[in-house]
Amino acid sequence: CGIVGYVGTKNCVPILLSGLKRLEYRGYDSAGVAVIDIDKSKIDIVKTKGRLTVLEEKLNQNPIEGFVGIGHTRWATHGEPSDENSHPHVSQNGKVAIVHNGIIENYLKLKEFLIKKGYTFASDTDTEVVAHLIEYYYDGDILDAFIKTLEKIQGSYALGVLCLDRPDMILAARKDSPLIVGLGQGENFIASDIPAILEYTRDTYILEENEIAIVTKDKVEIVNTEKEPVKKEVFHVTWDV
Ligand code: GLU
Repeated sequence: CGIVGYVGTKNCVPILLSGLKRLEYRGYDSAGVAVIDIDKSKIDIVKTKGRLTVLEEKLNQNPIEGFVGIGHTRWATHGEPSDENSHPHVSQNGKVAIVHNGIIENYLKLKEFLIKKGYTFASDTDTEVVAHLIEYYYDGDILDAFIKTLEKIQGSYALGVLCLDRPDMILAARKDSPLIVGLGQGENFIASDIPAILEYTRDTYILEENEIAIVTKDKVEIVNTEKEPVKKEVFHVTWDV
């Protein structure tokens, strides 16, 4: 239901948590974060059923940190609220982590396909197919794998993607579910809604359908599904929360 992502030079965990708090008004049943570990050797995930305070407790017991991460608050549509069904979801080899708002309508068909290809599922969500599908299509270029996955999934989505092989970057795309990019100085953000990032920046890109955001700390590129650059106007937020 809520998405926040950060790429920069600060530890992303407190920033993800404060962003998710700003989105609490939308309602949720679970929460979680995924972070590219400081030594870039793995993606760390802490997630839980329950409120953000429960997530914070878990993070206190099991601290993680890194400069690139994604966070999520979930409003369950497929699969009951539980730790396993909470986002972020990882691909089988642990190299791709994703957060998702919306519903993947054709997830059952994709799940059957992936199970035949040897993938095992850790959750009952519609979302998890997206993580495995990106891994399935991954051939050294995460953008290509993401685009191929977007071509296969139907339904509504705002997606934030981490890939261990590109520890400097978040990929994002949307369809029938909002997603914005926040433009900072030496740091950039993604979020499902403006309040999540307003304490850090007022300059944003409002992502449209068939646009993919490639977000690194010094640069945000928007491309279409043909990988051609899309020229975006900066939307400057003048209001306060
Ligand atoms: N359909 C997904 C799930 O149930 C995402 C729900 C959401 O938008 O929070 O896990």
